[in-house]
Amino acid sequence: MTTMAALDSERLEALAAAFSGSLLQAEDNGYDEARQIHNGLIDKRPALIARCQGTADVVEAIALAREAGLEVSVRGGGHNVAGRAVTDGGLMIDLAEMKGMHVDPSARTIRAQAGVTWAEFNRETALHGLAVTGGQVSTTGIAGYTLGGGLGWLMGVYGLASDNLLAVELVTAKGDVLNVTADSNPDLCWALRGGGGNFGVATSFVFQLHPLTQIVGGLIAHPIDAAGDVLRFYRDFTSSTSDELTVHCVLAHAPDGSGMKIAALALCHAGTPEEAEAEIAPIRAFGSPVMEMLGPMPYPAINAMLDDGFPRGALSYWKSSFLSELSDSLIDEAVTRFASTPSTMNAILIEQYHGAVTRVDPTATAVPHRTAGYNLIMPSTWLDPADTDANIAWTRETYDAFRPSFAEGRWLNYLGDDEKVDAVRAAYGPNYDRLAQIKREYDPENVFHLNQNIEPA
Ligand SMILES: Cc1cc2nc3c(=O)[nH]c(=O)nc-3n(C[C@H](O)[C@H](O)[C@H](O)COP(=O)(O)OP(=O)(O)OC[C@H]3O[C@@H](n4cnc5c(N)ncnc54)[C@H](O)[C@@H]3O)c2cc1C
Repeated sequence: MTTMAALDSERLEALAAAFSGSLLQAEDNGYDEARQIHNGLIDKRPALIARCQGTADVVEAIALAREAGLEVSVRGGGHNVAGRAVTDGGLMIDLAEMKGMHVDPSARTIRAQAGVTWAEFNRETALHGLAVTGGQVSTTGIAGYTLGGGLGWLMGVYGLASDNLLAVELVTAKGDVLNVTADSNPDLCWALRGGGGNFGVATSFVFQLHPLTQIVGGLIAHPIDAAGDVLRFYRDFTSSTSDELTVHCVLAHAPDGSGMKIAALALCHAGTPEEAEAEIAPIRAFGSPVMEMLGPMPYPAINAMLDDGFPRGALSYWKSSFLSELSDSLIDEAVTRFASTPSTMNAILIEQYHGAVTRVDPTATAVPHRTAGYNLIMPSTWLDPADTDANIAWTRETYDAFRPSFAEGRWLNYLGDDEKVDAVRAAYGPNYDRLAQIKREYDPENVFHLNQNIEPA
């Protein structure tokens, strides 16, 4: 791979003169901050970081990288747990400062640039009483999240974030700037609805929004001794929930920092307060909770509820798979294994996947996962590097013990850094071959390969 030593300094100076953002090399102020992403385990050193302010900066950065033969990485919100937003020795296209947003209240749409996070996005749309499915942790970037499908609290009513994507401004490997819509580029638009960062750099996104101001949501926690009963109750209860109600079940530690293990139900109801209270009454009535934080709140608040569990810079290693069923054996295994988890920030989380998201044809967008059920995720998180081996080992062993209950599909956004091509195929399912054809058309040389990569057909 070429490094900056091989880059023509005159060329770099000429670019810097025109560049609206900043071009950072190792000796520059801000370089170390810019190369750090959410997962503190990732420690890569790009030869150059192009902190873009607009589309023209992105076009120039791609051109420079290609001329110099530098590997390209693309950073939106920097949350990808595998750290694919950063390259060692290549050129990182950093979109974090591209924060523009414009809501059109009459059309109920928003155009948002690729550096926006869900906290920023929800704050802006809430001004107009509008919302769309977004990340369940508000610091996640809209860009990588949406390109990877984007599941969240509102998927039962509005589907995935990518199901609500109307247009994308995309800079291709050749440097073309396309306003991609279903009419202008049907194949590419189909691919961008869940096909990841494979097809170019998305500089802005247009979403369909929906009227929503308030939800009823929060968390009810039970003692860990009741974990098996809680998981079985959860399985029965979620077999017949309305689209408005999404409930996740999590074995975790109390958010008060006490380290106490809990079995909790986290939920969001997007109907009226009366509908919500009627539907969640059995949850309130079940068992003997040790903590209850459940009630009406503005929609953006539910997206920040889990933020404290995922601080920037914490060390993370994730494993995830859709489940064929929430079997008794998985429940028993989860309860047993969670007892020996090495970090008080670790969790075993079961996400309910249902409603509108499952009424889309599996080949209608790049996201094939349209069967109601559950997604298992182990978002292991710890702070002390000395604990890394123990946490990774526990996560892998526990995940392996769950294998008999796995479905074929994998959620693209949750894939970690030791996933092989098979996991990527499982994430794209029957859509992989069409995606590979579209990849060949728009990125035949696989310039954009630091992602959940689809090789050109
Ligand atoms: C704490 C936490 C909570 C999460 N919660 C959810 C959740 O509720 N639902 C869910 O579906 N996922 C969730 N995720 C996963 C998340 O959606 C993915 O990690 C996603 O990649 C993050 O997007 P980003 O822009 O922040 O990440 P980045 O790391 O910046 O980007 C990830 C990858 O996406 C591509 N990419 C990013 N921006 C662009 C762009 N503008 N153009 C082209 N390619 C681009 C690149 O390949 C890049 O490597 C969560 C992750 C974390 C760490």
